[in-house]
Amino acid sequence: MRLQAMRIPPCVRGAYADLPAHQTFDLWIEAGDVISIAPSTEPARGTLLSGFVDAHVHLDKAYTVGTAGAAEGDLMAAIARCAADRVSWTAADLRLRMLRALEDAWACGTRAMRTHLDWASDDMPVALRVFEQLREQWRGRIDLQMAALVSLDQWADPAAAQRIAGQVAVTAAGGTSALGAFVYRHAALREKLEALFDVAQRHYLPLDIHVDEGLAPDARGLRTVAEIALARGWQGRILCSHACALSVQPPDEARATLQACRDAGIHLVSLPTTNLYLQGDWAGTPVERGITRLREAAALGLAPCIATDNVADPFYPYGSFDLVETFGLAVQVAHLAAVQDWLAAITVAPARAMGLHWDGRIDEGCPADLVCLAARDDHELLTPAGRQRSVVRKGRFL
Ligand SMILES: [Zn+2]
Repeated sequence: MRLQAMRIPPCVRGAYADLPAHQTFDLWIEAGDVISIAPSTEPARGTLLSGFVDAHVHLDKAYTVGTAGAAEGDLMAAIARCAADRVSWTAADLRLRMLRALEDAWACGTRAMRTHLDWASDDMPVALRVFEQLREQWRGRIDLQMAALVSLDQWADPAAAQRIAGQVAVTAAGGTSALGAFVYRHAALREKLEALFDVAQRHYLPLDIHVDEGLAPDARGLRTVAEIALARGWQGRILCSHACALSVQPPDEARATLQACRDAGIHLVSLPTTNLYLQGDWAGTPVERGITRLREAAALGLAPCIATDNVADPFYPYGSFDLVETFGLAVQVAHLAAVQDWLAAITVAPARAMGLHWDGRIDEGCPADLVCLAARDDHELLTPAGRQRSVVRKGRFL
């Protein structure tokens, strides 16, 4: 197969990263791999990216909004609605909903995903077995990773922590699996996080934390995570999502937190759809929007990711698993320019954050797992016509 005159953003190129952004390329694909890339003199026919990587989703919650109801901007109400709905989740129901999510993501061009799974008690959730089956069935199409979403208080209970981490360690034999928590202004925050780090280090499992998902300026979960990671020398094994509170903290304080994150090798993930829905005023038009400081993070040398988070559940009743859609929203709400420089946030950055075998840079010898977007330039990327795409997997169009 030959792809002609494709624009490849420099941040997604392997070789030729120093050529101008508007440069186009011809690619030859054989036996599932890109076997050669050469600069073209033709004007762009479209934009070529590596398959998308979604570092933060909730497959177990997806498509429950019909039974659970939407939370209209109240995170605690969303948590309560989800908990009430969860008691009726069966393996069959989970499988149908999770499959629907995977089919959607697959058609949109996603090649890997990390899903959080609610861990409401010390017992293994029903969703874990369904996840493990789907992980096997989808291996090579969408590579699946898992993070156990556990309350921070459970990690502070040594018996519960040991039991949960033991279950996650068993799952990790089949693919990367992380310990996670929801962290927001907890009493004894540092002590509980230290307990979580203890168990993660004991089992050599990565951490994946929902942190500071709110607009209270005194939320310092992210800073605390970074400080503990640095003190323990446990760098590069932590993914932190949301960090909404950074957006309302004084710039100097936010900057110091981001510097600590950079030094601790923390991967920062922004989730614009859910944040826009749950954060900010609902009594009137919102002013604060809860989007973390993506631009400041990038300026300090972090490589932030943008991910989907919730789809059609109490936390976000709309949406799909189309990362281009989410990316376009982030571009507008966070003023991400130049657009082409940020496309790493749904390709290369999450591939590295998840430790994938291929980091998503398009180069000779890389897998031909690609997305050809119709957009011929940055501006068209944010139009419905520009988002039209053909997905190439193992060297063939879907
Ligand atoms: Zn989440």
